[in-house]
Amino acid sequence: MEDELKFFCDRMLGKLAKKLRILGFDAEYYADIGEDEILEKSKGRILLTRDKILYRKALKRGLRAFYIKSDKWRSQLKAVSNLFPIEENAKPFTRCSVCNTPLKDVEKEEVRGKVPEYVYMTHEQFKICPKCGKVYWKGSHMELIRKDMGKLVKVWKV
Ligand SMILES: [Zn+2]
Repeated sequence: MEDELKFFCDRMLGKLAKKLRILGFDAEYYADIGEDEILEKSKGRILLTRDKILYRKALKRGLRAFYIKSDKWRSQLKAVSNLFPIEENAKPFTRCSVCNTPLKDVEKEEVRGKVPEYVYMTHEQFKICPKCGKVYWKGSHMELIRKDMGKLVKVWKV
């Protein structure tokens, strides 16, 4: 079993990075970043790339790299879950999908005014991203995962 599945998604895998974060995985991604920087930042991570040249370079440097063939995020996620124990290690609702930062629990009162009123009224559990301030609530977050990835990965013991 993997200790910790930490990913680095190349420039063409933005959507995949977001989905991995929603599932709770540490997935770095930068829209605007050079090849050398990608290779540098991938150290200690699993590099997922759609670029065959970059893939070969990464292997030459002794990095863990995997070539992702599909340009559709669903197939990409499926490919990643075939390679790694994604279902077993998923921790949905623990990481910010926007900036990859671990979420913090907050008291309900603290998010008053930061979420729509009906959300505030109908939910009890909230989390916040300490870096970008995005507020998450369990209902919608879980719903999104179910709708988005229900057929791909089975992670709703949550
Ligand atoms: Zn964030």
